[in-house]
Amino acid sequence: MKKFLFLFFFLGAIQFTSYSQATFEVTTVNTTPEMDDAIDFALGIWGSRLKSNVPIKVHVIYASAVNLFLGVSLSNARKNFPNAPQTDVWYPSSLANAIANEELNPGETDMEILIGQANWYFGVDGNPAGNQQDFVSVFLHEVCHSLGFVSLTKLDDAGLGTYGEVKPSDLGLSVSSFTFNDLEGLPGIFDTYLVDGFGKKLTDTANFTNNSLELGLQLRSNNLFFCGDSAVASTGGLNPRIYAGSNYQLGSSVSHVDEITYNNTVNSMMTPFSNAGTAEHEPGPIVTGVLYDIGWNQYQHPNVGIVEIPKEAIQLSVSPNPFNENAIWEFTLTQNSEVQLQVYNALGQEVFSSPRTDFSPGDHQIQWQADGFVPGLYHYQLLVGEGRTAASVLKW
Ligand SMILES: [Zn+2]
Repeated sequence: MKKFLFLFFFLGAIQFTSYSQATFEVTTVNTTPEMDDAIDFALGIWGSRLKSNVPIKVHVIYASAVNLFLGVSLSNARKNFPNAPQTDVWYPSSLANAIANEELNPGETDMEILIGQANWYFGVDGNPAGNQQDFVSVFLHEVCHSLGFVSLTKLDDAGLGTYGEVKPSDLGLSVSSFTFNDLEGLPGIFDTYLVDGFGKKLTDTANFTNNSLELGLQLRSNNLFFCGDSAVASTGGLNPRIYAGSNYQLGSSVSHVDEITYNNTVNSMMTPFSNAGTAEHEPGPIVTGVLYDIGWNQYQHPNVGIVEIPKEAIQLSVSPNPFNENAIWEFTLTQNSEVQLQVYNALGQEVFSSPRTDFSPGDHQIQWQADGFVPGLYHYQLLVGEGRTAASVLKW
């Protein structure tokens, strides 16, 4: 018992920030009530996954007469803020705020999203008709760009590739809800993970010079990848392929996963093209991994959790193990804690998630009814407060 108490004292003595579920503040221009409802639904999905104590401020403009795009997203940015993981690198302000744990851009929004004219489906059930564009899917996609799934690279007419030179006017746009920074020739956090087919980082000046033909070739090489550990782990060890088509297009090239590789897969949310009649409301493993790599703390990520909790600290047992139909996680809490059980199959796909629930001090159990799942090894993590315990169970 003494040891038990000591462990909790030890955990309590570690200095870490307690994060809560991200919330959003939305301002709109020209939107309709049904669009507003779909926006709230989509932001609820991101909010349930991301951790931030600073509200994420989203400005949405419905350009109902413009049919040049489905959606465009422009992000506010900050660099060299308190606790910034990398120096002289741009972070989306929503992420910078979450990491700094303070509001770095008061009076400005974090992202401005333009929605164009389309045959929109505003339902939230992911069931658009064959000729309709699923609004929730497109909105999730655009928010994801401004959460950091975006490159600050650019190819100019002379074939020179740059980073940190993008301006909204390059896209024929301007922003109204924040001041778009002069990017000063510095990369975005996403760019720092881009590698060529040999694993050479694009932003490492020993490999590539900013504003060079060599860099320009990479941006349309069809051979560009993301090398962050979590994104790579999410594919089972391969660098996810980034869209770098030979026909370069600013805003599309390099800021998406590859269309051919990931269209119609669990990773299709951030492909560059949206098919009518389809919906994608789940970010999927690669996007989740990329967001984690660039610095987002997330509820849904296997590596989330700042503190590893020893099994003994919560007297965790899983029985029976191996199990056949049901496995039961039993544990003891000494304080009120939010608890959630997540189970993943051997491919790392989530197969079970209990609702995140407030548990009181004392003994508790969570059961996974697993009949119908294939036999094999399953990985689990029990999230307890800001920490987690992770291990595996075997189903026969
Ligand atoms: Zn996009």
